[in-house]
Formats: sequence, C-alpha cells, structure tokens
Amino acid sequence: MIVVKVGGRKGLDYDAVCADLAEVARQGQSLVLVHGGSYQTNVVAQQLGHPPQFVTSVSGYVSRRTDRRTLEIFQMVYCGKMNKAIVESLQRQGVNAIGLSGIDGRLLEGKRKSAIKVVIDGRKRVLRDDYTGTVKEVNTSLLQLLLGAGYLPVVSPLAISYESEAMNVDGDRAAAAIAAALNAEQLIILSNVPGLLREFPDESTLIERIPADQVDQFMSFAEGRMKKKVMGAAEAVAQGVGRVVFADARRPRPIQAALDGQGTVIE
Ligand code: ADP
Repeated sequence: MIVVKVGGRKGLDYDAVCADLAEVARQGQSLVLVHGGSYQTNVVAQQLGHPPQFVTSVSGYVSRRTDRRTLEIFQMVYCGKMNKAIVESLQRQGVNAIGLSGIDGRLLEGKRKSAIKVVIDGRKRVLRDDYTGTVKEVNTSLLQLLLGAGYLPVVSPLAISYESEAMNVDGDRAAAAIAAALNAEQLIILSNVPGLLREFPDESTLIERIPADQVDQFMSFAEGRMKKKVMGAAEAVAQGVGRVVFADARRPRPIQAALDGQGTVIE
C-alpha cells in the first residue's frame, strides 16, 4: 500500500504524475492519491470576487481563512475541477480511478476548530466562523471496499465534522492519516521542491535522510506551509508508516524517483 499526495502549487504537471501513478498501479501496487489545489483555489476565489486570505496561528502555522463562501469555492475547485481532472487523466491512462472527498461516506472525520487563535498585524484575534479542522478518523472500510474492487481512490482533502459540517483540512496531514490508517508502507508527498531544504530556497541544500525518531528536530528548517508536511510526516511515522518521502513533482516519473529514494526520505 502506497499513499501519494500531490501538491497544489502553480505549474505542477498532473498528467505526468498521473502517467507515473498509472505505471506503478500496473505493476500491481495498491495506491491512494490525495491531491492539493491551493493555486487554482486562489485563482477562482479571485475571479469570484472573494480573494484568498491566509492566517497565521499563534503557534506559527499558516492556513487558509475558510469562511462559508471560501468553503464553497474550496469545494468547487477541489471536488470539481481538480479531482475530476485527475480522475479523467488517470482514466485516460487506463486506471479505474474514482474521485471522492473526505465528506463522502464520512471518509475523513474530525473535529472542527470552533475558535482559532490567529495573529493579524501583530495582534491576537479569535476567529469563530472558520470551517477548518483536523482529521481524527479515517473510514478505512470504504477505502478497502474500493481498493478491493480494483478502483484507485482519488481523495480531496475535505473532512466532515462530528456535527456533519464540511471543513477544509490540511492535505498533507490528511494523507498522513490515510497512510497510517491503511498501514501503508510508504507515504510520498510530491511538491514543487526537491524535498526539505536546509536553506530554503537553495535546492542544493536538500536534506536527504531523516531518521524517523528525529523528525521533530528538523522542523526548524521548514518555513510556512512546509511545516505541515514535516508535521504530517512525523505523525505518519509515529503511527507506523514505514517511510515518508518528500519529493519533486516537477520531474519526469516523480513517483518512481521517490520510490527510488530521491528526495527527503524519513524512515
Ligand atoms: P503543496 O501545495 O505542493 O502541498 P506547499 O506550498 O504546501 O506545497 O509547501 C511547499 C512549499 O513550502 C514550497 O514550495 C516552499 O515554498 C515552502 N518551504 C518552506 N520551507 C521550506 C524548506 N525548508 N524546504 C522546502 N520547501 C520549503
């Protein structure tokens, strides 16, 4: 079992990722794909006159401000445009992919943050109308049902709260939760960087190996959004995932390169 997360930055070649995924699937590998969509969400939000806003929590994590309108736009882009384009591309490559979000069949369930403490212009504020949360449960029986029937699940990182509200969740941590719940051998996190860089953005400073029990010590190298990836990796290995690889989505055959150990390997 391998879980692959592909990011949502500008310029990623999803067809190349899907072609590579198809090749790995043809070798008989069980796969689940989790996808991003941040860049497209920003573009569409801008077009719809509801520009994106990002907030920084008091502990220093950056996340998308998700009011109800943003949640709707998020769903349009992730569950509509992104998810269906990936499913279409995989189908074109001969893979019977099926798209679903964490809301469907309560695939990803968790706790909505009723109040988030953020820092805006150096001042602390509490936001209460935010639809974000953290995945606590993965409905593995639904995934097993699909995998057992030969489908490749393509998951949009939304989750359902215990009160049955849709919410935006972090894609890297959702992929980590899925990998842990499925006892995956590997979690591959593809992005627009070669891995965790010691001195971002200098790509020659790639950190190639991180022992599983030392992930926390490498958190200091991650800035901004990269912190969630390191956090997701720490959660995944702590819950028994054999190996996590941060790897480059911009190169040909990105998944096979990651399986060969190119990128930042955490094990
Ligand atoms: P995605 O949408 O592909 O999941 P993110 O934007 O969430 O990607 O995270 C990857 C980004 O993290 C990189 O594009 C880079 O700008 C940023 N980053 C911050 N610190 C680092 C670091 N130390 N090494 C690599 N990338 C980093």
